[in-house]
Order: sequence, then structure tokens, then C-alpha cells
Amino acid sequence: MQGRFIFITGGVLSSLGKGVIAASISSIIESMGFRVSIIKLDPYLNVDPGTMSPYQHGEVYVTDDGAETDLDLGHYERYTHCKISKKSNATAGQILDTVLQKERKGDYLGSTVQVIPHVTDEIKRRIQLAQQPGTDITVIEVGGTVGDIESLPFLEAIRQMRYENPQYCCNIHLTYVPYLKSSGETKTKPAQHSLVALRQVGIIPDIIICRSDEPVPMESLKKISLFGNVPIHAVIDQPDVKQGLFEVPISLKTQQIDLLLAQILKLSPPNQAHVTIWENLLQRQSKLEKSVLIGVVGKYLEHKDAYKSVFEALHHAGLNQDTKVQLIEIDAEKLEKGGQIPQVDACIIMGGFGPRGFEGKIQVAHHARTHKIPCFGICLGLQVMTIEFARHVLGISDAHSTEMDPDTKSPIVLSLLECKNVTQLGGTMRLGSYPCHLVENTKARHIYKKDIIQERHRHRYEVNQDYLDALKQAGLIISGKHPETGLTEIVEIQDHPWYLGVQFHPEFQSKVFLPHPLFFSFIEAATVHQEFRLKQEEVAL
Ligand code: GLN
Repeated sequence: MQGRFIFITGGVLSSLGKGVIAASISSIIESMGFRVSIIKLDPYLNVDPGTMSPYQHGEVYVTDDGAETDLDLGHYERYTHCKISKKSNATAGQILDTVLQKERKGDYLGSTVQVIPHVTDEIKRRIQLAQQPGTDITVIEVGGTVGDIESLPFLEAIRQMRYENPQYCCNIHLTYVPYLKSSGETKTKPAQHSLVALRQVGIIPDIIICRSDEPVPMESLKKISLFGNVPIHAVIDQPDVKQGLFEVPISLKTQQIDLLLAQILKLSPPNQAHVTIWENLLQRQSKLEKSVLIGVVGKYLEHKDAYKSVFEALHHAGLNQDTKVQLIEIDAEKLEKGGQIPQVDACIIMGGFGPRGFEGKIQVAHHARTHKIPCFGICLGLQVMTIEFARHVLGISDAHSTEMDPDTKSPIVLSLLECKNVTQLGGTMRLGSYPCHLVENTKARHIYKKDIIQERHRHRYEVNQDYLDALKQAGLIISGKHPETGLTEIVEIQDHPWYLGVQFHPEFQSKVFLPHPLFFSFIEAATVHQEFRLKQEEVAL
């Protein structure tokens, strides 16, 4: 079948869940028997989101091949079978960089280098590049909002693609339809404006998806259909979901998006989608019997998206044990100022950068270790656990990381050798998937049931190998190591129900159908600890 393209644009505002919609549509297409590739086009000028603050951009999602990408790529991997890679995210920064490099090399043979055609050609090339072999349909999510100046070259590129291939392209526009409480009305004007903005750049959508807090009345949908030049059956209403994101593919299928796509893209065979897998999950989720309370220690907690994949992975592990995972924020900085660690069934120490909140994290590691509360350290979390152990068990009271204190006399954690003398921040980390050898008779090996695993990394600092013998003698178990360099990948301790730190980010490989074994085991341990905790609380009464 000749390749098809689905372009997804957004209007009115950001944060409407375009990534989840793109992932859900891709999952629906897969269920119709087609092979999908997905690419996210980001109109900002950063080369990648690696240098952007989690407050601004949310989590940086790392691919197997070491790209630091937009968090929407996490949705793509979690919802579909697509192999996400460096090629699955292209930013305006990367595109302009390529064009300028080509210009310097003289590749444009003396022409004046312009947005059209040189930048738009590069955007189109990146879309083609993102297609994996055998792809039937490529889904292209355009970041940002229609009407932004920086989106223009991207919209122009997709307009051109449609012009070149009219019968094989589908434009889906996601727009916002607010409900005004004061007047008790649903307002279609913002959506109308976004459709006008889209038309101004030569794009008329085939499908409009209305995002709203509550279902949009038919009368308003009809108005949007008329203004948008889109038949009413192709105006889909997607109000906020009540139970969870699994509802999105189910709702899209209920509104027959599969039939619409089959018709617009002339799909052959025009198989119907099936969403049983999502329906089963939703049903399971509505009947969760147990719940555990997990303390989350980080410094970007007020920004929900900053730890997106970790929260998803906890949720996947819980759901597969019929357990609701309730998160309770532990603000590391407040602990430093005398705050109390709440009663929890387990805690998780998040990854992060820089000294802010570091000592608070050490306090949590100490508390969890000495009170035998299950504790999971991710990336910086492993470094915190190791430093806490060095300070309080090994007796090196000034143990530290050179990231937090560059002049420390006891650098238990220090910068990776290859990163020494690096002054530039972007793309200078140990990134992507690396093998890890799991040592026999350890908890890690027992959980993974394998001797070699592959996990994704994003860090500049490492446990200092000079201290390894002393740490081991004091009881720290190095249960995972990089097979060639011996770099510490996993630490754990004995005589504790569950205390494990990983230098990598296991959350990036968790799928709702296939929860990550570490998260699964961690939630099991939290459930066991809960019984113990509740009994103790009863005794205390
Ligand atoms: N800041 C630490 C490092 O670079 C940890 C990074 C992380 O948690 N992702 O090694």
C-alpha cells in the first residue's frame, strides 16, 4: 500500500493532550492491521529538550539510541508497538542547524537559502526519515499551536505534502471548546479562530477533535462543523476522561474514527479497529481492590509532567496487581527546613540535577533504610542512596557528589571520565540504552530473572570506583554493573525488605501491558509493608 500520512495540529492552547490523541489514533490504526510510524515536530529553537527546565517542558524522554526527546514520545511507545528513536522527534533547532550546515558546505549551489523551499524540504525529509521499513501510515504530530509564528514552516511543509499527495493525507485538528460557567454556555469562538488560522495557511482539516471539560452539545458541534468546513460526522467530541487515559482510544473508536480514517485515506482493507485491550484495562481499573501510598521525593513535584514516565510506570505496576497507587509528595527542600517525612508504604527518590533538595533526599534515604521502608532510587536516587550509605554506615561523614560540591574531599559520586572538562551542557551525558550485568544472588537478578539487561540512561555522574571496595565491605551490594567498564548500575542492601537504587531510568520501558519488573516488585513490597505499617498503627492505638 502506498504510504499514508496523518497530520495532527493543535489550536487555541497547548496542553490539550495532543500527544495522547496521536498515540491513541496510532494504536487504533495498529489494531486495524496497519504498521505505523510516528514523528513529533517541535517548532521551538532548542536542538532538543535536554537543556530545557522540567518546569517548562516536563520530562525529557530518552530513546534507546540516546536521543533526549519530547515527553509525547513516551505516550507513543506506551500505546503502540512503534520503535521510537532519534528520528521520531525533530525540532526547529535541528532543522535549521541542518540547513545552515548544508549552506556552509555549499550544498545549495549558490541559491538564496529560504524558509520555502529549503527549510520546508528539510522538514519533509525528516518526516520521510522517521518512517520505519514497512510503514503503512505515518502519524505526524505538530507541536505548539496553530497561529504561532514558529509553527509556520511546519504547517507549510504539511500543506505541501498534502498538495503533492492529496489522496493519501489526512489532517486532524485538535481544538479547545471551553464551557463558560458564568453564562452556562459552551463557546465555539476560540475553535473557530483556530480553524481560520489553519485555513490562512492553506489547510482545511478532514477531522476536528474538540477537547472540552464536559461533553460539547450537538448544536455547538454543528457550528464547528460549519465553520470548519468539515462534515458533522467528522467532528469528534473528546471531553476530559474521568477514569484514565485508556478511555481516549475507546472514545475515539466509539465515534468511529477508524471508519473515518479508512474512508479519508482509502485504506485497504478497511478493517475496523478493536479496542478490547483498552476496555479490559479500563474495567480492571474501575475495580481496584487495594491501594498503596507511595511517597515521591523530588523537586519538580508541582509540575505533574516532570516525572511523567515514573508515574505511568507506578500506575502500570499497580494496575497489574489490582492496586491503586496513591502518590504523596515529599518536598525535599521542606525536609531540609525541618519538615516531617509522612507515613508511607514505600518511597521513591526521583532523578534530578543540581544541589537543590539534595540533603532532603538524603534524609529520606536514611529514614527508609533505617526504618526498613521500601525505597526505590532512580538515577540521582541511586547516587543519594550511595552517599547516605557512605556517610552513615561507612562513616565518611562528608561523603558527597562533585555535582553538588565540586570541592568535596570525599567524592563518592563524581563526573564520568569521558565527561571531564565538558563545559557545554547539551548532549554531553551518558545517554540511551546500555547493557547491565546482574550479579547472582541479588534482589535485582531475582526480580529481572536475567543476567544481562538493557536500560536507558541520562546522567553525567557515577559512583566513584575508588570507593567501591569500602562500600561493599560495609554492606552495600553492587548488584548491577556495566559489563565492560564495571560502572555501578544497581545498588541494594541486605536485611531490608526492598532498598534498591538504579543509575538508569527503568520507567522509560514500562508499558501498561507489560509493567516493568522493578516497578512491579516495588509495588508488591509496598503492599507488604502496608500490612506491617497498619498493624503497627493498630498496636500504637
Ligand atoms: N544529576 C545526576 C547525574 O547527572 C543524576 C541525573 C538524573 O537523575 N537523571 O548523574
